[in-house]
Amino acid sequence: MTTMRAAVLDGAGGIDIKELPVPVPGEGEVVIAPVGTGVCGTDLHLASGDYPHGRFPVVPGHEFAGYVTAVGAGVTKFKEGDYVGVNPNVSCGVCQWCQRGATNLCVNLRPVGVAVDGSVAEFVSVPARITYPISEKITHQAAPLIEPFACVLHALERVPDWSKQELVIFGAGSIGLMAIILGRAEGVSGIRVVEPNPARRQAAADLGALQAVASADELNVDGFDLALDASGHPAAIAQAISSLGPRGRLIQMGVASPTATIALSPYDVFAKEISIIGSNSLAEKYEESAERMIDLQGELATLVTSTYKLEDYAQAMDAATRPDQIKVQVVS
Ligand SMILES: [Zn+2]
Ligand SMILES: [Zn+2]
Repeated sequence: MTTMRAAVLDGAGGIDIKELPVPVPGEGEVVIAPVGTGVCGTDLHLASGDYPHGRFPVVPGHEFAGYVTAVGAGVTKFKEGDYVGVNPNVSCGVCQWCQRGATNLCVNLRPVGVAVDGSVAEFVSVPARITYPISEKITHQAAPLIEPFACVLHALERVPDWSKQELVIFGAGSIGLMAIILGRAEGVSGIRVVEPNPARRQAAADLGALQAVASADELNVDGFDLALDASGHPAAIAQAISSLGPRGRLIQMGVASPTATIALSPYDVFAKEISIIGSNSLAEKYEESAERMIDLQGELATLVTSTYKLEDYAQAMDAATRPDQIKVQVVS
C-alpha cells in the first residue's frame, strides 16, 4: 500500500478527505496506525486557522494511540505491532525551556496534528522519543484519552496539595469532567462544578460532583481554596477568581481567545493573597496518564459520546461543537 486516506485542513475552514502517500519513517521515527483519535477544541480552532502553532495544509489529530507499523533507522525501543501512545508536543530539546524540563513551553514547539501531520489518517509518522508503550489492558476507546487526561494531571499537579483542597471546576466539558474523575479517585471530598449547559451539569452530577450549578452565584460555599478553569470563557474565569477565599488559587487551563481580557482587582489579589497559576498542555505527564488510564478507563471512556469514521471527519468536527456531545472520536 503506497497511499492512504487522511483528513486535511486548509486553515480557512476547509476539511477534505485526500489520498496521501503512506509516510515512510525518517531516522528516529515510528509509523503508527491509529486505533482512534479524539476531537478537541484545539482542532476546531485549528480548522479555521485560529490557532498560533498551526501550519497548513495539515492532517489534524493529536489525541491518539495505535500500533507501530514501521520503524526508522536508529529506533530500538519499538518494533512492528507494539501498542503505543504519543505525547504530541514535538519539542526541540535545546531551548532554555526544554533544558529546564518544560518541553510544553518549548519556543520551537511543532505539535503533531497542528504543525506537522497528525492521526486523522490511516498512518502517522512521529518521533520515537515522544512515543510511549501502553498497556494492552487499555481499550482502543480509552487509549486516545491518555493525552487529554495527561493535561488534567499536569494542571492539577501545578498545585502539589491540590487533592486536599476544596475544589470548584468551571466548565464541564471533557476536561472538567476528567478533573472530577481524577479528583474523586484521589479522594477529594466535595467537588463543585459551574457549567451553563444542563446536559453537562447532569454528567458532572453522575460522576459524583457534590454540586453542579449554572452560575457561581448558586454555590453555597464562601471562598474556595482551589478553582480550576476548564472553560476558557472570560466571564467564567472572572467568576472563578471571585469565588476564591483567602490564599485561594486558580489553575487556568481553559484556552481563552488570545485577545480576551478580564477585569482583575489587584486589591483582592493582595488582600486575599490569591494566586493565578497557568497550565499549558500536558508537559511531562504522558506516561503517568497512561499508567492511571489502566484503572480509570471505565469511567473516563463514558465521556466518549460518539464515534465517526475517518471519511466523516467533517461531521465529527461538527458534532464536537454540539452541546449534547462530550468527547467525539474518529476511528480509521
Ligand atoms: Zn486536545
Ligand atoms: Zn525547545
